[in-house]
Amino acid sequence: MIDKINKLKEEKNAIILAHNYQPKEILKIADFVGDSLELCIKAKEADSDIIVFAGVDFMAESAKILNPDKKVLLPEVEGTKCPMAHQLNKDIILKYKEKYSAPLVVYVNTTAETKALADITCTSANADKIVSSLDSDIILFGPDKNLAYYVKKKTGKNIINIPEDGGCYVHQKFTLEDVYRVRKLYPKAILLVHPECNPEVQEKADIITSTSGMVRYVLNSDEEEFIIGTERDLIGRIELELEKLGLNKKLIPLRDDAICKEMKRITLNKILESLEKEKYEINLDEEIIDKAKKAIERMIELSKN
Ligand code: SF4
Repeated sequence: MIDKINKLKEEKNAIILAHNYQPKEILKIADFVGDSLELCIKAKEADSDIIVFAGVDFMAESAKILNPDKKVLLPEVEGTKCPMAHQLNKDIILKYKEKYSAPLVVYVNTTAETKALADITCTSANADKIVSSLDSDIILFGPDKNLAYYVKKKTGKNIINIPEDGGCYVHQKFTLEDVYRVRKLYPKAILLVHPECNPEVQEKADIITSTSGMVRYVLNSDEEEFIIGTERDLIGRIELELEKLGLNKKLIPLRDDAICKEMKRITLNKILESLEKEKYEINLDEEIIDKAKKAIERMIELSKN
């Protein structure tokens, strides 16, 4: 199957972008692996005719927004909608915009329609930097309330989270009990958590960072043991990098069941089928693409500085 995928990639001038939460067998056939920001940048730089996105709906949409002339394929549409991305919609945004005259910053984990209404997007890797750069003390921010908590703490700005209770079900699973239990078993391990985790879990962490921040931290650290507080398959992603460097470090999941079932809908078989039949193609309204592109490109520009 891998040979067939590679042959089709060559024949059709296609590339595969895979998110850090994909399992090892998919990461191994990908041309680029990364977090949302890194993949946005790779999508923008891509000179292929076809982009196959091993991720969830909003990620493939972002690739299309940045590459409107290319064919962007999501290998599965059933069950690949990120639940958090769909918590923030036009009605909620318009309601808050009526009440507050403040810039709207949206997480890249949102639909294309939501991005089109935003002043700028952000990722967990740059959210505090983006918010700090804006010339306003009040910021409308959505949809993740835990990321909003993190940004508020880092920037000191008045962050109004919309909707009030937005969040990722995978990261909201982590509790203080998990932290105490795993810390007791591995007292020397460094605890890294994602800013989508609940505030009380963030408060107990040694490091709060994005998925790529975690990869870099583990690779560059002199420590030997790490507890990983994000989607479980990030461990496989880090292990692949450690193997390349001939390093051996212990990686412990904060919970075994922190699994994003939407991400796992993508399989090697579906990627092969996607390349063969060129499905499922992402199509977006031109006006949405134009507006959403401005919000994403503004973020990419600011992230470079
Ligand atoms: S891990 Fe959470 S935010 Fe990321 S795709 Fe899955 S549900 Fe969405």
